[in-house]
Amino acid sequence: MTTQDTRLPILAVVGRPNVGKSTLVNRIIGRREAVVQDVPGVTRDRVFYDADWNGRSFQLVDTGGWDPDAKGLGGSIAAQAEIAVGLADAVLFVVDATVGITDSDEAVVRILRRSDKPVLLAANKVDDLRQEGEAASLWQLGLGEPYPVSGLHGRGSGDLLDAILAALPETPEIDDVEPSGLRRIALVGRPNVGKSSLLNKLAGSDRVVVDSVAGTTVDPVDEVVTLGGQDWLLIDTAGIRKRVKEASGFEYYASLRTSGAIDRAEVCVLVLDGGQKVSEQDIRILQQTREAGRALVVAINKWDLVDEDRRSFLERELEQELVQVQWAPRINITARTGWHVDRLVPALEKALEGWETRIGTGALNTFLGRLVAEHPHPVRGGKQPRIVYATQPSTAPPTFVLFTSGKLDAAYERYIERRLREEFGFVGTPIVLQQRVRE
Ligand code: GDP
Ligand code: GDP
Repeated sequence: MTTQDTRLPILAVVGRPNVGKSTLVNRIIGRREAVVQDVPGVTRDRVFYDADWNGRSFQLVDTGGWDPDAKGLGGSIAAQAEIAVGLADAVLFVVDATVGITDSDEAVVRILRRSDKPVLLAANKVDDLRQEGEAASLWQLGLGEPYPVSGLHGRGSGDLLDAILAALPETPEIDDVEPSGLRRIALVGRPNVGKSSLLNKLAGSDRVVVDSVAGTTVDPVDEVVTLGGQDWLLIDTAGIRKRVKEASGFEYYASLRTSGAIDRAEVCVLVLDGGQKVSEQDIRILQQTREAGRALVVAINKWDLVDEDRRSFLERELEQELVQVQWAPRINITARTGWHVDRLVPALEKALEGWETRIGTGALNTFLGRLVAEHPHPVRGGKQPRIVYATQPSTAPPTFVLFTSGKLDAAYERYIERRLREEFGFVGTPIVLQQRVRE
């Protein structure tokens, strides 16, 4: 994935289970990526999707993944709607036209009407002309024109997308909304690992709350914090601070915000709880930072709880679980007391330096020539793929294009990556290798 220099507008998709939200999301993003579930209430891992239409990009959030357990269906969709309204620039409310309006739809409608966000109403499952009459009855919801669509067949989706784009704000340039020149950091990690404690230690009392980027999303609050004599922009600190945790469904809400914060950041600090086992949720957040191509620092917090016994376990565990990001600088800290928190800045600087490292084409090809001479690609089916030429077209994260005479093995790619790191550093950054095979 490439770096996103601009923040994309967000469209949240809301509606009862089984009205066809995932199907419609798949239709809009143009691939079968969202999980279509016949079982209502199954939590979906991925909720953010990138979408394009007519040359404009936006992000889609499928709020249907959230299941606030036993609160009952009506309550749950209402809560979804509240999340959506808080998070998005516009809301797509999906109703099953073949079923019509239900009580829980009406609860949602009240929330949507109260909000000042644009709302688009999709009357889904209008698979043919005959059913359009049913869609028309949805005018009475008072949410404006219902767009008859068939998520399944695509019918009407072009008109709906046109309306969506008209409702979403133009993509703002980051430079327009954020003080330029400051490095952007996101503190990420599952709840209770100590992000707020770390934030408070870092920010101290002389922080500057930057603003709630007017009229866009989520009232994200960024703070300018002076660390190591330099100003840094801490992204979406509102998402880290307590009051968000107290909101209902905060875990889901937090995961949405995490995705958003990662997208906007240049470098992420993954905070782990040293007193606890590395969990699936930790790994998922780690993956998100990698997929987004962000620089990464791993902070093992609550080091005060790590005694001798725990320590040897922890080291082994980290070695296994963090194998994919061995390149990330690691610091052990105690946010509560501030112990070693001063090690964060050098780690961040190192990671950003790696993230922005560019190797000249000459040096790169000399290096690869040497590498291949020392350790040629194994012969596969009588052929030996050769690296003809390589360039590094971009940084942040460093991305290499290898022109080859045949597809390189995954193992050989890993070898190249390892050698690139040995030779050039690239501390704290993922490396992207792309192959262009010329037969
Ligand atoms: P979600 O729970 O709202 O995300 O709904 P899904 O996308 O999982 O869809 C629920 C069911 O409705 C699935 O069986 C879909 O195949 C079906 N469905 C979705 N969209 C349409 C549509 O436009 N027409 C028809 N006939 N069925 C649809
Ligand atoms: P967040 O949900 O990631 O923002 O985590 P918090 O900062 O709210 O911390 C969760 C809990 O862990 C609180 O009770 C903190 O006091 C505690 N905590 C945070 N940092 C440390 C630490 O360094 N050591 C210990 N022992 N506890 C900590």
